[in-house]
Amino acid sequence: MTFDEYQKLAKRTDLGDATKGWNDPINFEKLLGLGGEAGELMDKFKKVLRDKGGVVSEIDRVKIVKEIGDVLWYLAVITDHLGVKFDEPARVNIAKLASRAERNLIHGAGDNR
Ligand SMILES: [Mg+2]
Repeated sequence: MTFDEYQKLAKRTDLGDATKGWNDPINFEKLLGLGGEAGELMDKFKKVLRDKGGVVSEIDRVKIVKEIGDVLWYLAVITDHLGVKFDEPARVNIAKLASRAERNLIHGAGDNR
C-alpha cells in the first residue's frame, strides 16, 4: 500500500470538513487527536521500559503497531485537510535526510541543517 492509497482509505473514516478552518471543532480535534495518539504510543514504550526491562514482547509489538497506525491515521487526514497528498511529506523528509547525510549533518540540531 502506498502512502496515497492509505490516505484515501483513511479519509473514509474522517468526519472532518476540509472546507472549514482548523478552529472548527471537528477539524481541531484532529490536531488534539494526533497528540493524544502520540502519547498513547509513548505510553506503550514507557511500560516496556518500566515493567519489562526494555524488551518488547509480541503482545507489546501488536499494541505498539496499533498505536503507530492511530498516529498514521491522524497524520493522513491532517495532511489531506491541508490539501497535500500523503506521499509528499514522506518524500520531502527522505530528501531532507539524504541531503543531511551527504553533508554529514545527520547528527546535531536545527530544522534547517
Ligand atoms: Mg490509540
